Amino acid sequence: MQKLEEHIVIIGNGISGITCARHIRKNSNKQITVISGESEYFFSRTALMYVYMGHMKFEHTQPYEKWFWKKNKIDLIHKFVTGINTLNNTIQFKDNSVLSFDKLVIATGSKPNKFGWPGQELSGVTGMYHKNDLENIERFAPDNKTCKRAVIVGGGLIGIELAEMLHSRNIPTTFLVREKSFWGNVLPSEESAVINKEITDNHIDLRLGVNLKEINADDNGNVKSITIAETGEIIDCDLVGLTAGVTPNIDFLKASGIKTAKGIIVNRYLETNIPNIYAIGDCAEQEVAIDQRRPIEAVWYTGRMMGETVAQTICSKKTAYKPGHWFNSAKFLDIEYQTYGWVFSEKNKKENEVYFQWKHPKEQKCITISFDKTTQQFLGINTFGIRLRHEIFDTWLTENKTIAQVLEYLADANFDPEFYKVHEPEIVAKFNLENNTNIHPKKKSWKRIFSKS
Ligand SMILES: Cc1cc2nc3c(=O)[nH]c(=O)nc-3n(C[C@H](O)[C@H](O)[C@H](O)COP(=O)(O)OP(=O)(O)OC[C@H]3O[C@@H](n4cnc5c(N)ncnc54)[C@H](O)[C@@H]3O)c2cc1C
Repeated sequence: MQKLEEHIVIIGNGISGITCARHIRKNSNKQITVISGESEYFFSRTALMYVYMGHMKFEHTQPYEKWFWKKNKIDLIHKFVTGINTLNNTIQFKDNSVLSFDKLVIATGSKPNKFGWPGQELSGVTGMYHKNDLENIERFAPDNKTCKRAVIVGGGLIGIELAEMLHSRNIPTTFLVREKSFWGNVLPSEESAVINKEITDNHIDLRLGVNLKEINADDNGNVKSITIAETGEIIDCDLVGLTAGVTPNIDFLKASGIKTAKGIIVNRYLETNIPNIYAIGDCAEQEVAIDQRRPIEAVWYTGRMMGETVAQTICSKKTAYKPGHWFNSAKFLDIEYQTYGWVFSEKNKKENEVYFQWKHPKEQKCITISFDKTTQQFLGINTFGIRLRHEIFDTWLTENKTIAQVLEYLADANFDPEFYKVHEPEIVAKFNLENNTNIHPKKKSWKRIFSKS
């Protein structure tokens, strides 16, 4: 008798779950079921903001046509999972139905943090994570007549996206940020100051060093205002966006026996403590952090990498998760940000690290390069307003280049479109002046660039 193929169940149809499903299908004929309580089909979470801003419709955030799933024999279930029974390998749904699995991948992502603020469940209070958050924002802040003011609580990458969204519809917005400077626990202070300026230049009412005390309701249970903890100031508003970070979405695992801390604890093979159960993406927490990376990384590309990696293991090619050098990119209103390697805020900077910084005298452009004070080894770079070539920095980090080598060939790493102003000569001149060096920047060489890619 022919052996039935294993049934792989994946909870979560975000980037990590879907990447895992696609790669299992590429490598096997296993039975695959993907479950999501949020949406029937995979969509790009990072594109949600552009739906509100009118650049695209929600359907356009779904990269695969509907026929794709049937053609590739990936079954989709649109239901909420309420529990996992690890003794008989089944999952339970909210409607009390049950599904059995041979192997289970948990890819349930994150949820917005709520810190027990009074009023956090009122109508008109929303996160900016899920599809229904977008629907809430559309409902409570369709225009500046319905929403006379919005308040965003929590400065970070999602908070600034929400600020940009509301700004696109001319909705007056107050932005409460706990730190003394925007993203000041992540960025060096000079860069953080550039973002503060960008926010206030866009007429967003940025309040630094303040915390939310409570959200106040009107007689109908809708948001009426918020109170600031430090000053007692009351700000009238019609929408409150909670964007003070995210936490793994794992409450439904409580009684399962699957080991969790903040996230689901996994080893390098993304295996949990229970055989044949894996966790990937935002909800996974590395038992031992990889290099200087955080044990939980709530970013898109690491979710994709984990999905691909665990699919190999499930298809009998046991593969460790090796994310390589840290990189990330984001946008702060009109300023593009990229980071490669490690550049920390002053507070988190290590003793051996020295920063070289350059800032454009007029425009919102700056870079910070981190290097080792003794060995001169290049450790990382942040840029604002200048685009860089990922593969070049990846190679330079692998090859342990020195700061002098990086500056000499910096033009090769520039990825700005043709005819954009170049700044490498000014950047290198500043470094030479400050460090009494004589580095000569080389002209961009396509030959060198292509030899790296
Ligand atoms: C507004 C916004 C902008 C972002 N921008 C960037 C960016 O520019 N760059 C970047 O790197 N990252 C960005 N991120 C982060 C990135 O989107 C996430 O890291 C990534 O989407 C996580 O993917 P995931 O597959 O792990 O989880 P998710 O995308 O969260 O998918 C998990 C899915 O599982 C479902 N689920 C959860 N629990 C259950 C349950 N019990 N039953 C059934 N289904 C369940 C969820 O509803 C969800 O559909 C952004 C995030 C947001 C919210």
